Amino acid sequence: MRPTRAEIDLAAIAHNAHAVLGVLGPSTQLYGVVKADGYGHGAVEVAHALASAGVQGVCVALVEEGMELRAAGITLPVLVMSGVYRDGFDLALRHGLTPVVYDPAQLPWLHRTPGPVRVHLKIDTGMARLGVTLHELPAVLQSLADARGVVVEGLMTHFANADCDDPTFTHVQMDRFREADALVRAAGFGPLLLHAANSAAAFRLPDTRLSLARVGIALYGVAPFPHGGPALLPAMKLRTEVISVREVPPGSPVGYAGAYRTGRRAILATLPVGYADGFFRRLSSEAEVLIRGARAQVVGNVSMDLCTVDVTNIARAHGVSVGDEAVLLGSQRGPAGFDSIRAEEIAQRVGTIAYEVLTAVSRRVPRAYLPAR
Ligand SMILES: *Cc1c(COP(=O)(O)O)cnc(C)c1O
Repeated sequence: MRPTRAEIDLAAIAHNAHAVLGVLGPSTQLYGVVKADGYGHGAVEVAHALASAGVQGVCVALVEEGMELRAAGITLPVLVMSGVYRDGFDLALRHGLTPVVYDPAQLPWLHRTPGPVRVHLKIDTGMARLGVTLHELPAVLQSLADARGVVVEGLMTHFANADCDDPTFTHVQMDRFREADALVRAAGFGPLLLHAANSAAAFRLPDTRLSLARVGIALYGVAPFPHGGPALLPAMKLRTEVISVREVPPGSPVGYAGAYRTGRRAILATLPVGYADGFFRRLSSEAEVLIRGARAQVVGNVSMDLCTVDVTNIARAHGVSVGDEAVLLGSQRGPAGFDSIRAEEIAQRVGTIAYEVLTAVSRRVPRAYLPAR
């Protein structure tokens, strides 16, 4: 019933996928990253849209996420990048998922897996997070060679700094990755799918494209680096409607702790969205939303379910009433003009990155899908 919802534009995702496919060219496959429920957009719907757009595979973080895709009928290769625990290899096998081996501690589980299993091996070239180090690699390769039915299909690494302007460390990581590749081939494995690039690397470091690129954030329309990025279409619009309008005298405290006081006679509009929806409390008196095509400032503390915006100027010029649309993320056209708010803007105000803004939109916010055109 609440008018707060996230509208997901599947045509924008298809557009972005085509843009990435164009950049990658015919010799590099695109694996769309749909972990964390498709960066908040809905993994199943996004994966269907990506499949139609011609991507060759998808990546998730967890076996559970891969199983959700299989249950929904996704038949693309699904790479499980960061979460195969204990009997997870069995589950991955049963659901046709491709697990990543990223730590020698996984090898005993892999050895106990009954059937033939295809895995990708991850090398730590500088993230110090997941991945087998060059030092551990010879022993791991020996163990993989001894494991019955294990087929090493791919070799991967992940970049720490691909979104930074200075490519030096990414080149260091690439050198280590090539060294690992040489060791793996010398041990008799291959041919392998080699992959390293995320969105940022895929766009601006051609050497990193290899067999396939694992692209996430760009598919959702967020520029993977601040300047000179590709033209991408944001796929999520977070919108609600005004549920109450009031006029208050100068000096009125607004919201919890009276953290904001009106400086003049003000017209305030209440919106049914709060931090439990992913509209961060850090945005208190900080964010702007679009109403009637113009920006209105959030005033006072964002509450769990509600927030308040100052619409004095918009209301005097164009009127503001209950039922008017308020856009927290995305574009709006109205009598006052046209404007848009990108996830990058909110991220900057909160002191985080657009990835967190998108994935923070909580389960309480229904997703509505605009079809791919
Ligand atoms: C999330 C993730 C990606 C995608 O990164 P983007 O910056 O969203 O393109 C690629 N590889 C790994 C290992 C990841 O965890």
